Amino acid sequence: MISKRVMKIIPSVTLAQSEKIANLKKQGIEVIGFNVGEPDFNTPVNIIKKAEEAYQLGYTKYTPAAGMLELREEVCKKFKNDYGLDYSVRNVIVSAGAKQSLINALMAIVNPGQEVIVPVPCWNSYIEMIKLTGATPVLVNMDERNGFDLDVEKISAHVTEKTVAILINSPNNPTGAVYKKEYMEKLGNLAVEKNFYIISDEIYEKLVYDGNINCCMAALSKEIKDKTITINGVSKSYAMTGWRIGFAVGPVDVIKGMSDYQGHTTTSPNAPAQYASIEALANTEEFVESMRKEFAIRRKYIVERLNAMEGITCSIPKGAFYVMPNINSFYGKKYKNYVIKNSMDMSDYLLEECRIAVVAGEAFVAPDNLRLSYSNSLENIKEGMDRMETALRKLK
Ligand code: PMP
Repeated sequence: MISKRVMKIIPSVTLAQSEKIANLKKQGIEVIGFNVGEPDFNTPVNIIKKAEEAYQLGYTKYTPAAGMLELREEVCKKFKNDYGLDYSVRNVIVSAGAKQSLINALMAIVNPGQEVIVPVPCWNSYIEMIKLTGATPVLVNMDERNGFDLDVEKISAHVTEKTVAILINSPNNPTGAVYKKEYMEKLGNLAVEKNFYIISDEIYEKLVYDGNINCCMAALSKEIKDKTITINGVSKSYAMTGWRIGFAVGPVDVIKGMSDYQGHTTTSPNAPAQYASIEALANTEEFVESMRKEFAIRRKYIVERLNAMEGITCSIPKGAFYVMPNINSFYGKKYKNYVIKNSMDMSDYLLEECRIAVVAGEAFVAPDNLRLSYSNSLENIKEGMDRMETALRKLK
């Protein structure tokens, strides 16, 4: 007997695909992965050293539910240095990844029957998390022709008396959009006027290109700050996905609710990883910049290659490490026994025909697109693009 709540969850497409890839690898078939959602860089050595120190110094016990005081202080410093924001440790919670901070935030502010707006395409977990709270996700399509930037007028038309929050993500997974400050401001003011929360997932904040900068929602005004819960963490900026440390900052009552919830579900995040995350926030600027520069080179290359393929259009993403080529001109085309009816068929075709792994846009409410991560070496990206080009040419 499985609960109705859990039965409603749509399992992660990316995880199902990982299993297929693992099976191919087991048979000795090499697959080039454009499906991964994590930096291919190693965690910087200074952070690893701090983790070793943590074990030696005995940071091996529970910490406060909301996280180690010293790390929460470092998070406050980060928001002050990066955005001029004043937060105290009571405004901060540390969690087992940004993902846990997100579900904590939703659990703390959402009641069953309410609505949470999500601009789409969006990261697949948002929709399932909202459903888990008993609320209804209200999906609002952003326009590919505007680089999937925020369309606040469209969002505004979906605000009802049941709206409790909007969940936004900039820089965006999967679109690579970095929302313009002007639109962020409009959305912030709408939230103040209509009295709903903004959950602003800024996990990719450091990965922005071409002079774009991350606009931190909470920094836009005092009123907006009071309505905003910012989600962030060390996973993407410091190549620490497996360490499972994320954090959130927001109004004291919301953070307290999140902390009470976390206290009963997790106790506290991993202690040595918290200790090492202080180092990540304090002393890793050079690493972040070198990773960002490398991503910028790969991004340029992959976008050029994709746009040079007949039938594909691909806008240049401003941030994160994903591209979202539009592939709908292939729908209805065939090769051997493959018929491409949608992006799932295309991702299956590319995996089976040329051994590259990409994610179907359906997983992100982007049925005309694929998502490719360029978190792979330039050499692999080149080989993968060659293979993709050849496979696409076969479709008639
Ligand atoms: N938000 C977004 C938009 C993401 O893409 C991811 C990771 N795929 C997360 C949150 C989760 O990050 P973490 O590893 O810190 O849980």
